[in-house]
Amino acid sequence: MHVLRNEPLAPLNTLALTSSADYLIHAISDDVVAAAIAFAKDHHLPIMPLGSGSNVVFAGDIERVVLHMSTRGIQIIEDGNSSVVLRIAAGENWHELVASSVQRGWYGLENLALIPGTVGAAPIQNIGAYGVELAPMVERVHCLEFESGQACSFDRKQCEFAYRDSVFKNALKDQFVITAVDLRLQREARVKTDYPALADHLQQGRLTEVTPQQVFDAVVAIRRSKLPDPEEVPNAGSFFKNPVVSASRAEELIRDFEGLPHYPQADGGVKLPAAWLIEHCGWKGHRRDDLGVHPEHALVLVNYGCNQVKSLLQLAREIADSVLDVFDIALEIEPRVYGS
Ligand code: FAD
Ligand code: NAP
Repeated sequence: MHVLRNEPLAPLNTLALTSSADYLIHAISDDVVAAAIAFAKDHHLPIMPLGSGSNVVFAGDIERVVLHMSTRGIQIIEDGNSSVVLRIAAGENWHELVASSVQRGWYGLENLALIPGTVGAAPIQNIGAYGVELAPMVERVHCLEFESGQACSFDRKQCEFAYRDSVFKNALKDQFVITAVDLRLQREARVKTDYPALADHLQQGRLTEVTPQQVFDAVVAIRRSKLPDPEEVPNAGSFFKNPVVSASRAEELIRDFEGLPHYPQADGGVKLPAAWLIEHCGWKGHRRDDLGVHPEHALVLVNYGCNQVKSLLQLAREIADSVLDVFDIALEIEPRVYGS
C-alpha cells in the first residue's frame, strides 16, 4: 500500500477546488482498502472514501485518510433467463457501466446515463434521473466496516433507499466503505419514457417503438445540451436538493406563484424544483468574479477559475437566503461539504 502525504485534491473533485489530504491512498484492490482501514485506525484518523469527487465540496484541507476508490471489475454472479446479476467493483465508472450494460442487452440503467461518478458512490444518495432511481436494481451492497475492518453486506431493504438518500447518509454515515454493488438487470426491455424532457425528446424523433439504446442516447443528448461538463466547466451538478413541502403549503405556494411546477410524492408531500425557485429569485446566469450560476441551469454552481470555496459557499448561502425570503423554503445543499 502506498500512502501519500499532503496530497492535492483539486484533480480529484469535479468542482476543482483547491484542497489537500493529510493522507491519500489510491485503493486499487479490496486488500488495499482493508490495509487503509487498519492504517487509519493506527493513526486515529477518520477515513473519507472518495470516488470521482462529483458530489463533494472541499471547504478546507481534509484531516482524514482519503481513500480514492480505484478498484475495477465486473462479474456475472447470476445468469438467468429473464435477468442477470452483476457484482461491480466500487471504483468502476458509473456511465461506462450503464453504456456497456445497454450494449450487452442488460436493461434498467439507461435513464441513468452520463451521471458522473463511481459505482460505489451510487447507493450513497440512491442516484436518480429522468424518472428512474438506482434502488430497485440493487440486490446487495458490499462493505468493509471502519471500526472492525470486517466485510459485511446489506440487502436493498437494509439500505433504506429514499429520494436521493440511503442509510449510508443517515444511521450508517461514515461507518463503511462500499467495496462492490450487486445489481439485477433485465434481459427484457421495459423502457421508462414518461419523464417530460425525455418524452419530448423521443417524440421529436417520431419513434414508434423505443429501445433502451434509444433511451440511453436521448438521455445523453439531453444532458449534453443542458448540463455543463465538469471537465470543461468545474461543477458538482445540482448544488441544492429539490425541497419537499406539505400538500397544504404547496397549495398556498401554487396560488401565490403562477407557473410553479409541483410533483406530488407517494408519501403525500409535494416536491418543488429548486431550479425554478432559484431562477425566480433572479440567480440564473448570475456571475461574480470567477464563480457563477450556470446560464442553462439554475441549480448548478460553476467554478470558472475562482477556486475560493469560501466565496462559493457564500454565493450558495445568498441563493438559499433569497429563496427563504421569497418562498419561506430552506434549501439544503446536496453535495457533502468536507473540511469546514
Ligand atoms: P464522490 O463525490 O466521490 O463521493 C460522494 C459521497 O459518497 C462522499 O461522501 C463520499 O465519501 C461517499 N463515497 C464515495 N464512494 C464511496 C464508497 N465506495 N464507499 C462509501 N462512501 C463513498 N446525481 C444524481 O443522483 N443524479 C444525477 O442526474 C446527477 N447528475 C450530476 C451531474 C453532474 C454534472 C455532476 C457533477 C454531478 C451529478 N450528480 C447526480 C451527483 C453525482 O454524480 C452522484 O452523486 C455520484 O453518485 C457521485 O459519485 P462520486 O464517485 O463522484 O462520489
Ligand atoms: P428538469 O427536467 O428541468 O426538471 C426539474 C426538476 O423537476 C427535476 O429535478 C425533477 O426532479 C423534477 N421533475 C420534472 N419532471 C418531473 C416529473 N414528471 N415527476 C417528478 N419530478 C419531476 O430537470 P433537470 O435539472 O434537467 O435534470 C434532469 C434529471 O437529471 C432530473 O431527474 C435530475 O434529478 C437529474 N439531475 C440531477 C443532478 C444532481 O446533481 N443531482 C444534476 C443534473 C441532473 P427529480 O430530480 O426528482 O428528477
